[in-house]
Amino acid sequence: MATQKLLLLPGDGIGVEVMAEVKRLIAFLNQTGLASFETEEDLVGGAAYDAHGKAISEDAMKLADQADAVMFGAVGGPKWADVPYEARPEAGLLRLRKDLGLFANLRPAVCYPALAEASSLKRELVEGLDIMIVRELTGGVYFGEPKEIVTLENGEKRAVDTQVYTTHEIERIARVAFDLAKVRRGLVHSSEKHNVMKSGVLWKQVVTEVHKAEYADVKLEHILADNCGMQLVRTPKQFDVIVCDNLFGDMLSDVAAMLTGSLGMLPSAALGAEDAKTGKRKAMYEPVHGSAPDIAGKGLANPIATLASFGMALRYSFGLSEAADRLDAAISAVLSEGLRTKDIASAGQNAVSTGEMGAAVIKAMG
Ligand code: NAD
Repeated sequence: MATQKLLLLPGDGIGVEVMAEVKRLIAFLNQTGLASFETEEDLVGGAAYDAHGKAISEDAMKLADQADAVMFGAVGGPKWADVPYEARPEAGLLRLRKDLGLFANLRPAVCYPALAEASSLKRELVEGLDIMIVRELTGGVYFGEPKEIVTLENGEKRAVDTQVYTTHEIERIARVAFDLAKVRRGLVHSSEKHNVMKSGVLWKQVVTEVHKAEYADVKLEHILADNCGMQLVRTPKQFDVIVCDNLFGDMLSDVAAMLTGSLGMLPSAALGAEDAKTGKRKAMYEPVHGSAPDIAGKGLANPIATLASFGMALRYSFGLSEAADRLDAAISAVLSEGLRTKDIASAGQNAVSTGEMGAAVIKAMG
């Protein structure tokens, strides 16, 4: 079995605590021969600022570039509230995304049957839910120019953000969505607003062309982004993969996330372009949550979001789908047994620590 190179960037606050459980899982996979990982570890966020005066060092960036995948914990906290803007902890995360060219954000929304009660929707609507939102991450209105606030001659102010997409940007994100659908349930919803936005017209046209030319075996539906938001809370199980731009993806993925309960349960991946020679993509995996200063250092953090992010790495970067399936089944099993960290425990239910939850998941894999 080929040895895979993984860079661990635990970061700050609970990032360090949840990453400790990933390290235990890696040791288990290496020991049992289910995988072969070589890991390096470095600082990011506030921890990197304290050591180097910047949110990520050049050495860490080099390691990230050379790794087969990066596992990221979380960054930030009140301690760094007043550091210069360019050195703020989040700058480390943004630099990684930008320099590694991570244009595709994968946000699964999976509702474990044991946690269906934690959703704001009725059990029957969310139980067994398994959808994947594919959000374009490096283009669109968050980055388009001009982006400014100007003062007009009459003294009034005018703010401008620019929504821009090129054919190439739409094609590559569409391919990520279709490729995922092929190994899932074979359905892609492409979500935009072609009724009122030119970028939506081009988005719909390009996705249709990519589908026709390369993915006739996948079913494609087009859905207006506002309707998509509505349908996500009406009948979420109708979806398999949803692909959308940066802005709509930001909102739709948060809507989908809330169908599943706690922030401590949500994994994510960010993927770059396929290397023409090796066929591999640059990739970074991270929980959706932040560094949770309110619970940091207390052993209260739920490690499942980070363990499930590592599960995505097993599946999408390392082709270890058997190990990934085992991890998913183990998470589901411990939840069914009633094990809960504080964030997902109901009133009166005993809560376990970060370490106890991690150990239980690993035990259930054995
Ligand atoms: P947060 O996600 O850190 O916490 C929000 C709430 O959810 C808190 O009450 C926290 O205790 C709880 N929570 C989060 N993850 C949990 C887990 N795994 N288990 C149990 N409970 C969990 O968001 P915030 O409080 O808005 O931000 C705190 C810091 O994190 C800020 O500095 C912010 O900038 C940073 N942040 C970083 C990232 C990132 O690194 N990707 C993302 C979001 C926020």
